[in-house]
Amino acid sequence: MNYQRFFEEAIDQIHAERRYRVFADLERIAGSFPKAIWRSNGEAQEITVWCSNDYLGMGQHPDVIGAFQNTAGKMGSGAGGTRNISGTNHPLVELELELADLHGKEAALVFTSGFVSNEASISTIARLLPNCLILSDELNHASMIEGVRRSGAEKKIFRHNDVAHLESLLQAAGRERAKLIVFESVYSMDGDIAPIKEIADLAEKYNAMTYIDEVHAVGMYGPRGGGITEREGLADRIDIIEGTLAKAFGTLGGYITGTKSVIDAVRSFAPGFIFTTALPPAIAAAATTSIRHLKTSQAERDAQQRQAARAKEVFASVGLPVMPSETHIVPVLVGDPELCKMATDRLLGVHGIYIQPINYPTVPRGTERLRITPTPFHTDALIDVLKDALVETWDALGIPYNTEGKPAVAKSDRIIPLLVPKSGG
Ligand SMILES: *Cc1c(COP(=O)(O)O)cnc(C)c1O
Repeated sequence: MNYQRFFEEAIDQIHAERRYRVFADLERIAGSFPKAIWRSNGEAQEITVWCSNDYLGMGQHPDVIGAFQNTAGKMGSGAGGTRNISGTNHPLVELELELADLHGKEAALVFTSGFVSNEASISTIARLLPNCLILSDELNHASMIEGVRRSGAEKKIFRHNDVAHLESLLQAAGRERAKLIVFESVYSMDGDIAPIKEIADLAEKYNAMTYIDEVHAVGMYGPRGGGITEREGLADRIDIIEGTLAKAFGTLGGYITGTKSVIDAVRSFAPGFIFTTALPPAIAAAATTSIRHLKTSQAERDAQQRQAARAKEVFASVGLPVMPSETHIVPVLVGDPELCKMATDRLLGVHGIYIQPINYPTVPRGTERLRITPTPFHTDALIDVLKDALVETWDALGIPYNTEGKPAVAKSDRIIPLLVPKSGG
């Protein structure tokens, strides 16, 4: 067997499907977010990032950076081992208390990422429950799907946010069988929100456990940043609330919160928790500082919502096909993978604007899009610059404008010749 050839063919396949990804070489500039330096072909240039999941810019907050630096200075850079072997760093203990309080739960458990928290927790909970049936929303994140797979439990997929479909599956399983409903609060590609109350009602009616991923909501929704479940007063009706420290909180790590017994079981049984080195204390301290700040400060949430609403309005006013979204996510439809990739190449190469193309399999074919995430640091002036760049790109590539709303469609005054990008570098 020619091993190298095997891997080359695997990559060729990705190329053939137009799904091959080239990562932009970026350097974020603390204090100037969302500006970053982009390096390409030996040149460095300043660009604007429009697709960061550092949703509130907390990754550059002086208090968060300060906590990180102080703690690293006092305790060093690494955790020194797994929590079983090397003990639990005190900043992790504080972080877990903070998280349990954030969601009004008895206990919390921190993992090295949100991905790991979902994979380890869902698989462990469903594996411990006898003959568990998992009911999973069809648009759940890959980390949840991995958790479902690894559990070995039977699964049924319900249509996205379709409570009637979910109910029929629950009914068929019956009240007696162990059941775990796994879903998200904010779905990050469309920016829509799950019917959490209706799902909680069904869980109660059919005696199912509930597991919600609030990754795209923690820090950003609810009076203390406890997510959509906090905003809607539903946190106590969901058994397990999962979140990340890496998006709105601006650091790294994932977590679950719930009752003492569930959290203790995951802590005691999940290999993805037990056999991996703990988060460094500096990251834990930075995350705690970020969470505490967002528990009392509404300013970041208000500014983010304002800028997201403004971006939607400005883009729609010139006929750009802004997809419906109830949240801070601003998806703009391209509808073709090739054009989507060309549009983002053009935005970066011509306009110095970085937005990742969102193509299949992240979203269904035909709904390829730009996923734009305005933050409090994306000013009105930056939104206007982006609007002009999008219009120029739409014109240059012949991407369809929105035809239904019939707004006045702006035409770019001039098409800028595309000199860059030189991809494949
Ligand atoms: C990003 C993401 C995760 C994973 O979180 P990380 O902390 O980045 O590993 C989990 N769930 C959803 C819905 C996500 O978008």
